[in-house]
Amino acid sequence: MSRADRSQSAQFSRPPSIDRMAQWPDLAPLIGRVGRPLVIEALRAWVDARRGTPEVSDPAACATWCEHRLAPLASSSLRRVFNLTGTVLHTNLGRALLAEEAIEAAVMAMRSPATLEYDLEGGARGERDDHVAPWLCRLTGAEAATTVNNNAGAVLLALSALAAGREVIVSRGELIEIGGAFRIPDIMARAGCRLVEVGTTNRTHLKDYAAAIGPDTAAIMKVHPSNYAVQGFTRTVSAAELVPLAHENGLSVIEDLGSGTLVDLETWGLPHEPTAREAIGAGIDVVTFSGDKLLGGPQAGLLVGKAAFIERIARNPMKRALRLDKVRLAALEATLRLYADPGKLVKRLPTIRTLARAPTEIREQAERLMPAFAQAVGSEWQPRIEAVRGQIGSGALPVDLLPSFALAVTGKGLDRLAAAFRSLPIPVIGRIQDGALLFDLRMLDDEATFAAQLPELAP
Ligand SMILES: *Cc1c(COP(=O)(O)O)cnc(C)c1O
Repeated sequence: MSRADRSQSAQFSRPPSIDRMAQWPDLAPLIGRVGRPLVIEALRAWVDARRGTPEVSDPAACATWCEHRLAPLASSSLRRVFNLTGTVLHTNLGRALLAEEAIEAAVMAMRSPATLEYDLEGGARGERDDHVAPWLCRLTGAEAATTVNNNAGAVLLALSALAAGREVIVSRGELIEIGGAFRIPDIMARAGCRLVEVGTTNRTHLKDYAAAIGPDTAAIMKVHPSNYAVQGFTRTVSAAELVPLAHENGLSVIEDLGSGTLVDLETWGLPHEPTAREAIGAGIDVVTFSGDKLLGGPQAGLLVGKAAFIERIARNPMKRALRLDKVRLAALEATLRLYADPGKLVKRLPTIRTLARAPTEIREQAERLMPAFAQAVGSEWQPRIEAVRGQIGSGALPVDLLPSFALAVTGKGLDRLAAAFRSLPIPVIGRIQDGALLFDLRMLDDEATFAAQLPELAP
């Protein structure tokens, strides 16, 4: 290579300044979409990656590269998906879908100043819990109620406020882990309580609780086993048996209901799940449950029970750290109002509507979608309609499965096909079970949008 050639090649691979590059017309559309600062950042990375190559000065190659690099930032990371996993309240996919009434209330609270802690009549300060506490009392029969960020927070707060520095008795059959680092022994330690385990994994008797009561005991706690079931030779102590024992000994009884429901699911042909009203009726002092599981509202931790205990809980400094924001309070109030007319819940509350869907209706939907689905999947795989069983999810009724119908695919390379469904404009999430890729249609509400994007499937 002659000296002249070398100098020409060096000059050729020396990039223009970042500012000059940012003026390349090839980059204008990208700057329009994501803004100049992100493009400048991408250009610096481009120059680092291509330094010394002729390509570094190629506007078209640079624009394509920057587009690709910034693609994840150009759209939001939290995306809408179709949950066709068969798990209705899927924690990883956001649990309950809110009712239109709740969405409207939340939007109002986001857009406008609102009476979050303001009493309009007196023109004075109010209490944020006052928007939902009367509803929670009416719907559960409790004397008082308060709210926090989630049920894990509710359990932590109840234990901390009522039993810090003292002992709490729990059956070994209820020392659960829910996932996501919620383990009863850990929460107990964080709340500053000493856990006293009684009974065995499968059997705990009233006399086991009685024998564990000592001068340092503050409370007895019951926990809904949620995501597992003890079957066979078992014995648990009901709230109705525990409450008299606790109260004779001056102890309080706390129950973590987990999902907790405000209505009897048997109304819609579903298996029975303990209601908050039943727990209060049995004399439990403080009952905690989630807002975004069976209740069908926003993420929240609800505490209902005797006024004296709820007041102590609400005065605890940790309550301030765990409190609900205005958006979720607005959505929660609107959701609870729907329960005033339980007959209409199946129409108005998505969680109940989805759980109550009849298998025949789901099968008809599968039949309607099958031709478009088969066409999209192509001849490499074998699509068919399959009877399946789904789950409520989020710890409710772990062994009771919901009969449903799925669009199913068998064949080789199902992982690749599942990935293609996840790459659709609105990603479709199914599950692989027993050698089949299954899309349980119980949760498919927006059938038209689902069908419209099927031709874009590219396995
Ligand atoms: C789900 C669950 C929790 C945690 O509730 P979050 O609202 O997710 O914080 C706690 N206890 C039990 C028994 C549960 O089922």
